[in-house]
Amino acid sequence: MRKLLVTGGAGFIGANFIHHLLANDPQVQIVNLDKLTYAGCRHSLDGLDPARHRLVEGDICDRAQVDHLLREHAIDTVVHFAAESHVDRSITGPAAFVQTNVVGTFTLLEAARTYWLEERKLGPDAVRFHHVSTDEVFGSLGPQDLPFSETTRYDPRSPYSASKAGSDHLVRAYAYTYGLPATLSNCSNNYGPYHFPEKLIPLLLLNALHGKTLPIYGDGQNVRDWLYVGDHCHGIELILRQGRVGETYNIGGANEWRNLDLCKLLCGLIDAAFAAEPQLGRRYPQAFAAQGRRSASGIRFVTDRLGHDRRYAIDAGKIRRELGFAPAETFETGIRKTLRWYLDHPQWWQPLLAR
Ligand code: NAD
Repeated sequence: MRKLLVTGGAGFIGANFIHHLLANDPQVQIVNLDKLTYAGCRHSLDGLDPARHRLVEGDICDRAQVDHLLREHAIDTVVHFAAESHVDRSITGPAAFVQTNVVGTFTLLEAARTYWLEERKLGPDAVRFHHVSTDEVFGSLGPQDLPFSETTRYDPRSPYSASKAGSDHLVRAYAYTYGLPATLSNCSNNYGPYHFPEKLIPLLLLNALHGKTLPIYGDGQNVRDWLYVGDHCHGIELILRQGRVGETYNIGGANEWRNLDLCKLLCGLIDAAFAAEPQLGRRYPQAFAAQGRRSASGIRFVTDRLGHDRRYAIDAGKIRRELGFAPAETFETGIRKTLRWYLDHPQWWQPLLAR
């Protein structure tokens, strides 16, 4: 792993992954292909060494551009994050999800197959295609069901998860049919720095800082398994270095939270931060906590998302046993870090609120 093509590296997890890998491995160089959709942000990549990271604005569906980048940089590793990723947007506009998640993944696979296998006859010791996917492909769990494992049957229910499932199937088909050296990971919900403000945790946080209502879908009892984004990045790095080619690894935090409980936890942390640091009240004067109100007073239940999956949970036993994966952050430490990061980086999120 020397010359990486990272797709979607201006997005939430991709940007965190690039920071993580460049800090951990002085040998790697990264070409970052990102369309800079509403979800992509150049400033998430501020401070990176231009000799080791290059952002290329472009579409993973553009075969000519992908072909060119693979050859120009003699890419040996593709780490594929690029996707349309917001379930709500997939309900109102599914076409972009099929295009990027299915056709885009297909385009990358074809380009990698042609360049690595047909032209250069490279094998699994020389090249790797890692596909980043989600636990949402497995569908929804009941309260007593066992967590998703790598052998759980696919049962996607939203256009987002169906398009991700389609991309997973294509990656496996290329590995099986053509021998493309591929690995996959299916991860639970991530949180942490550079998370676009439309997603649940940053949305609640920033709304509380602006004295806006905190919308909770349905009865607030939907359960998600949350993992700090840095731990996800570490898991992907482990798979790239030690994972078995052709295998899938589930990555998760064994950290299930009901949305309403998560919201109350965040509210309590915000209130405590404002109580401990009076300067926050001056920086965020509209915040509930700056106006003598509890942040939780802003909670409002709103009409549920169509087809809202009830519960996700991940069994990360395989990556733990085979690759020694263990999250470095507890939810307690990770969520505090995240709150601190958003409090300290309004210059990053402020411009995104208008998108
Ligand atoms: P994100 O929406 O924050 O970022 C996606 C990035 O992809 C953006 O920078 C966007 O500009 C780029 N992009 C979109 N379409 C593109 C195209 N056609 N060509 C090139 N670039 C394009 O997403 P994220 O939360 O960082 O998720 C990254 C990956 O991880 C996705 O594949 C997602 O399915 C998966 N995943 C996310 C989570 C999560 O909790 N966020 C959990 C598990 C898996």
